[in-house]
Amino acid sequence: MEVPLEDPAHEIKRLRRCINDLVSLLALPAIWRGTDPSQIVEMLLDVLLRMLNLDFAFARLSGAFGATPVEVLRLSEDSKINLSAQQVRNMLGDPLAAYAQGSLPQIRNQLAAEGIAIAPAQLGVHGEIGVIVLGSNRAGFPEKTESLLLSVAANEASIGLQEARLLSEQKRVSAELNAGNQMWPVLTEAEIDRARPYGRVRRVEIGEVLYRPGEVGRPCFILLSVSLEIVQPTIDGERLVTILRPGMFTGEAGTIAGQRTVVQARAIQAGEILEVRPEDLRTLVAHDAALSEVLLRAFMLRRLMLIDRQLGNVVVIGSRHSADTLRLREFLSRNGHPFTYIDLDMDDAYRNLLDRFGIAVSEIPIVIGNGTMVLRNPSTSQLADSLGLNDNIDSNSLHDLVIVGAGPAGLAAAVYAASEGIDALVIESRAPGGQAGSSSKIENYLGFPTGVSGQELATSATKQAQKFGAKMALARPIVQLRCQHRPYELVTDDGTVFSARTIVIATGADYNKPTTVNLDRFVGHGIHFGATFLEAQLCEGEEVIVVGGGNSAGQAAVFLSQTARKVYLLVRGATLSDSMSHYLIARISGNPSIELLCNCELANLEGQSGLEKVSWVNKVNGEVRSVEAHHLFIMAGESPNTSWLRGRLALDEKGFILTGRDLPATADQDRISPWTTLSRPPFMLESSLPGVFAVGDVRAGSVKRVASAVGEGAISVSMVHRALAEL
Ligand SMILES: Cc1cc2nc3c(=O)[nH]c(=O)nc-3n(C[C@H](O)[C@H](O)[C@H](O)COP(=O)(O)OP(=O)(O)OC[C@H]3O[C@@H](n4cnc5c(N)ncnc54)[C@H](O)[C@@H]3O)c2cc1C
Repeated sequence: MEVPLEDPAHEIKRLRRCINDLVSLLALPAIWRGTDPSQIVEMLLDVLLRMLNLDFAFARLSGAFGATPVEVLRLSEDSKINLSAQQVRNMLGDPLAAYAQGSLPQIRNQLAAEGIAIAPAQLGVHGEIGVIVLGSNRAGFPEKTESLLLSVAANEASIGLQEARLLSEQKRVSAELNAGNQMWPVLTEAEIDRARPYGRVRRVEIGEVLYRPGEVGRPCFILLSVSLEIVQPTIDGERLVTILRPGMFTGEAGTIAGQRTVVQARAIQAGEILEVRPEDLRTLVAHDAALSEVLLRAFMLRRLMLIDRQLGNVVVIGSRHSADTLRLREFLSRNGHPFTYIDLDMDDAYRNLLDRFGIAVSEIPIVIGNGTMVLRNPSTSQLADSLGLNDNIDSNSLHDLVIVGAGPAGLAAAVYAASEGIDALVIESRAPGGQAGSSSKIENYLGFPTGVSGQELATSATKQAQKFGAKMALARPIVQLRCQHRPYELVTDDGTVFSARTIVIATGADYNKPTTVNLDRFVGHGIHFGATFLEAQLCEGEEVIVVGGGNSAGQAAVFLSQTARKVYLLVRGATLSDSMSHYLIARISGNPSIELLCNCELANLEGQSGLEKVSWVNKVNGEVRSVEAHHLFIMAGESPNTSWLRGRLALDEKGFILTGRDLPATADQDRISPWTTLSRPPFMLESSLPGVFAVGDVRAGSVKRVASAVGEGAISVSMVHRALAEL
């Protein structure tokens, strides 16, 4: 194609634009790193060939770009010169060296004898990056404009190449220094070969979108020779997450369970990929422990990075003063779903966003998903469904085991059941983690000497359960157990029915919280629901407040008084005598470090990042009192989450589920259903219904601790096996 060069200024502008694009491409470190630099230089030379209607373009990059210098020759398809590519190469020899020694005229003369004129340009100020040589047998070549264009191209290209080199170096160093190489690992040939039997190889063209946010069940792609750009499409355009190059793989925490994707993957370099579907990925990680470690670690780290950089496909627009905003943010956080939070109280500019979607401020909180879906103050289950968190849940199938509750006990049951081949479904009313999920640091769980956050423990356990194939329905409270016949049926609040051969109930208990104060704000920041040696250490020498009139509150007050400077014991009733054991009342009254305050209720809690001040009111005389305190112990008892089981299972007087030997021998009004159904005695954790087990805090007599909940969840699985064998 003949390119007229009538307007040099216009041509230079055009070329500059072209080269700029190339430079941006060159500057992408992930493209540069591990990619043959010749591919990039080839692109540049092709542009020059076409623009200037040349016969050949040659570039030689110095050894600075690799162990050996890179040489690239591009010949025009309709070249008229009588030399082969090899001959051109031979004639140009080592132009960089020749150029440096000023011997280019010699090469020029040799080529001139063949009727070919050349235009050289140095890459880098002193040609330290390399040289480009353009050749043509066109009469009058090179014209002034052509030489000018070449020097513009060479100048831009050398900047781009240098930037790319610097960036790739920076990236390499930072990857080695931080966990980046675990987040974006490059699989070895041997690892890829081990993955091959689980997938299928296919070709991907440049620009092909492999997945968009919100798509369900997308495979994990192992990049054999393609490069991908991972972006998050946002309302304001795309945000680059990363570039994946050959040897790397796509996917993050949701991939293994076939959940909806949260980012977009687009090919920026054509080639082949190995496509591994979620079900095959689960088989792969179950069979290949070493590869499983690489994949799962990367998936988890990527999800954390997305959360950290607020790169999710969900935007929550709300107010810090709105309980519903808190509910939705908590649900997303506890599910480890990356999202961006926009606080309308902080930034007026975001009101434009509401206008754009035609939303009134009164309708907040608003959830925008994938830049298109808009939910106005959705229920938690609406949000879960819209995000596809329950996509792979099938209510029509009969499950070997349904676990109700995804706290530590339920998650442990799920991990052990699924790893032992039991088809297990977990149904959770909120998000995984249970009470432990609200603990900022659990310090007494075996194997974590520096403590572990409840959220971290729950996220890892959830992924572990999903890795083994356990399914999880979220934001689905069970409201009814139908147990007239087997299989049993569990009904959710929206009327969905799940059938189960066996059931593990792990619904835990909720601590009774005073509703009069803003307690939730300080949970994990000065509010405690237990008083162990650990908490006693925390408040050594300080003034603390204990709320409650029962034995647990009395024990806590006496125990804490050994280390705290002073303990205020707040009791709602007029005396302790109705609710506390006499020995405790005696210890409290004789203890100068404990001040007993009857008829008192919490009135207010204050503090910035943590609890700083506690106020209470005397309900008889209306007097309000405040103390500077960093620790408040709520010991107002706990209520098991068993209201839906009344009349179905034998419960104790507080509603906890009776199991094993604790089951009543005869029926009475509250403790219905004695163990009469089977000739064998009930298993250890079995309730009054055969094949229905209770584990963790919901079980009468259980130790209210994470470790014991996990232990009971794990043990229950062996009994589930035996109960299944009876059917
Ligand atoms: C703030 C805090 C800090 C704590 N710190 C520690 C600590 O440091 N160390 C320690 O050992 N223990 C600690 N505990 C106690 C510990 O968290 C519990 O003993 C443990 O979580 C009990 O586990 P679980 O699985 O039996 O019940 P839970 O953790 O209560 O989980 C029950 C789950 O069932 C779900 N559920 C309830 N009803 C239904 C329904 N109808 N349908 C579906 N799902 C339902 C709930 O949403 C919940 O997710 C702490 C507790 C709290 C609140």
